[in-house]
Amino acid sequence: MNTPTPADPATARLALIAPLSGPLIPLERVPDPVFAQKMVGDGISIDPLDQCLRAPCAGRIVQLHPAGHAVTVATPEGIEILMHIGLDTVNLKGSGFTPHVKVGDTVKVGDALIEFDADYIATHAKSLLTQIVITNSERVAEFKPATGSVVVGRDVALELMLAGAETGVVVESAKIVTSEAILIPNPTGLHARPAAVLANLAKKFKADIQIQKGAAQANAKSVVAIMGLEINQGDKITLLAKGEEAEAAIATLTPLLWEGLGDQGCAPAPAPASFVTPANAAPAPQPRSEDPNLLIGVAASPGLAVGVVFQVRHAEITVVEDAEGSPQQERERLDHAIDEARRQLEALQARLHGGGAADKAAIFAAHQELLDDPDLLDIAYSALAKGKSAAFAWQRAFTTHADRLAGLRNELLAARANDLRDVGRRALSLLTGVQPERPDPPNNAILIAEELTPSDTASLDRHKVRGFCTTLGGATSHVAILARSLDIPAAAGMEPGVLELPNGTPVILDGGKGTLRLNPSTEEVERIRQTQERVAERRHIDLGEAQKPAVTRDHHVVEVVGNIGGLADAEQIPGLGGEGVGLLRSEFLFLERSTAPNEDEQFAAYKAITEALGPNRPLIIRTLDVGGDKPLAYLPIPKEDNPFLGERGLRVGLDRPEILRTQLRAILRAAAFGKIRVMFPMVGLLSELRDAKAILEEERQRLNAQPIETGIMVEIPAAAVMAAQFAREADFFSIGTNDLTQYTLAMDRGHPKLAPKVDGLNPSVLQLIAWTVQAAHTEGKWVGVCGGIAGDPQAVPLLIGMGVDELSVSVPIIPSIKAQIRRLQFSDCQALAQQALTLETAAQVRALCPDPDHA
Ligand code: PEP
Ligand code: MG
Repeated sequence: MNTPTPADPATARLALIAPLSGPLIPLERVPDPVFAQKMVGDGISIDPLDQCLRAPCAGRIVQLHPAGHAVTVATPEGIEILMHIGLDTVNLKGSGFTPHVKVGDTVKVGDALIEFDADYIATHAKSLLTQIVITNSERVAEFKPATGSVVVGRDVALELMLAGAETGVVVESAKIVTSEAILIPNPTGLHARPAAVLANLAKKFKADIQIQKGAAQANAKSVVAIMGLEINQGDKITLLAKGEEAEAAIATLTPLLWEGLGDQGCAPAPAPASFVTPANAAPAPQPRSEDPNLLIGVAASPGLAVGVVFQVRHAEITVVEDAEGSPQQERERLDHAIDEARRQLEALQARLHGGGAADKAAIFAAHQELLDDPDLLDIAYSALAKGKSAAFAWQRAFTTHADRLAGLRNELLAARANDLRDVGRRALSLLTGVQPERPDPPNNAILIAEELTPSDTASLDRHKVRGFCTTLGGATSHVAILARSLDIPAAAGMEPGVLELPNGTPVILDGGKGTLRLNPSTEEVERIRQTQERVAERRHIDLGEAQKPAVTRDHHVVEVVGNIGGLADAEQIPGLGGEGVGLLRSEFLFLERSTAPNEDEQFAAYKAITEALGPNRPLIIRTLDVGGDKPLAYLPIPKEDNPFLGERGLRVGLDRPEILRTQLRAILRAAAFGKIRVMFPMVGLLSELRDAKAILEEERQRLNAQPIETGIMVEIPAAAVMAAQFAREADFFSIGTNDLTQYTLAMDRGHPKLAPKVDGLNPSVLQLIAWTVQAAHTEGKWVGVCGGIAGDPQAVPLLIGMGVDELSVSVPIIPSIKAQIRRLQFSDCQALAQQALTLETAAQVRALCPDPDHA
């Protein structure tokens, strides 16, 4: 490549050659005020006809956005040309863009910078219009944009007459004014738009303003410099200003940064109590909760824990980029490290299996599969071929792969990103000889991390750790599963401010609500301790009476059964007084494997479970509930924009009947060994139920098996609204309030910000439950509830009052739910339910039915 030579700044004229072919649009007509009002700088826009952005002049790449949609070239004379493909394309998080350059590369006119998929962008972003703007426009005396259409690499799109040296006089003042630490709330960080807003605001002050992230600093008046810092959501930055208007600049810019500089969808990150500075500090940011001492996430594992913050961080392992040996030698080193990591994982898995921790063992089995991922190995091997070291190649392969997974909106895939980083680090430490750090928490520790890896938690001292709290992940992440299997409270998806809390900060973690209370008073701690003691005492008594039936004081009988994920849960049911299984999530057989389980494997699993329950306890097997949001490697479903509204549950089964047929055959065969019922998930249309029942009947006849009771999950509002029609054709209903709530309120059940509002006690959801029960009873059918509220002590009286016949709850709480029912009066519950249906909010309903443990 040519090394660009600077022009004479006094006389300079710079011609920018069209980086794309297409009609030119004046910047003022771009439908985005940030560009139209030239907040980023002056320039021109092109409506592209081709799909590769090329260099408009010789220069050096000084910024490439991680999402790949924007790049800045600096010319030798210091002119910075930002090219931004499309509008709002930062939200695509890299999809549709393939950069061909990296920061520091030198380019000549016409060199390919970023290739892009125009169809994809046109259908997934606001516009394809591509802006070419000079971010340090003050260096340009005159802009002469061309008109009409241009051809890439041939025509001049924009001519610049360059000004002399930088203008703007700053009165020197020795005093540096600094802001408080600011947590960036913008979902996509300080990308072009907020960076432009900040730079424009900063330019209004007679002061030298720097933005500091970690050890790096950048000029807050330069869009490119700000973007170069790659500031992401949750990053902590500080402003430093020097000059006549330094104080005013800090006072004005600080709150605006906290509020997201006008970006949409910003939930300002809360300032942890310890960071809120007194009196003269900028106005406090709006935390997600109204209480600055309360951080909110999503519930991941129930329970209360009182303890102190212990931050778990993963130090990056530094690797040498260039190989010492030949590609072949480096490959041998890499393969050897991967083999060794696999052996470690096998040993860990065997140890956990031996210790009865099958859940955890399965996670490490899945890690072994990740080590064989062909995509991952391809990326690493291709880097080796280019002379990179084994450690560098492996680190880059697993981190880029993990970042890509983490960027997806799919909770399960995002959870895989964490696993991939975990297993990647394991092999990397074997390659480099750098020992992975093992967290050594103090007593009563509440572990805080972006994400805790299974390796972090496998070796934890259970006696020291009281709870987990992560900013990533959700209720289905592996850490949540581990926390539940350890019976330890956990919250996920927590506000990023939690990562800034100093070690030792006293906190109360409420895993059931997904909240973390900072600096609780001694009285609060005492109250929690008393509650815990009371709950433990009551649990002990309830356990002693677990075999008593769940009958109200006025003799109304309710069946209390368990939600299970496999044999280990089923084995506990009889001892805990469970009267059967209301929901077997059969997904457990299908996840974490590379092929679907065959009929015999499934038959054996269902038979073992029904035998563990004994002949009189019913087992309701729900057919496979996977789909867009819970993908299986061997069951590819095309990418969906709204996976929760796409191919899920029974829809998948009807679309791939071979999977459903195999499962139904296994269930029918196992039914000969116990009291088995079958239940279809995510039924919304009568035709779906009819089609599924027809398949069941065909398989039954082929096997010459006995008929089995067939029910549906009521978890789509349509099924609740048409419960009367469904009740004629289903033998029973089980209301899945987790999904019913998310679909009724149109709020993602795993959404960290919406989580507090996704409450099954919302009167709208209660009304659907009441209708369902009424319609079913009219047809002489029974109704269960297997969603989370069935085990919520505040919901239990209401559900019973509405006439729900069966509550299916998580296994460990069966004795307490039965005991609670024995303390209730059915007639009171009926009155309470009627009253709840007239209320306006979930909070009002909760106020009506206080939690007996906290009352
Ligand atoms: C529900 O939606 O309430 C339910 C029990 O099913 P799952 O949580 O498995 O989707
Ligand atoms: Mg569901």
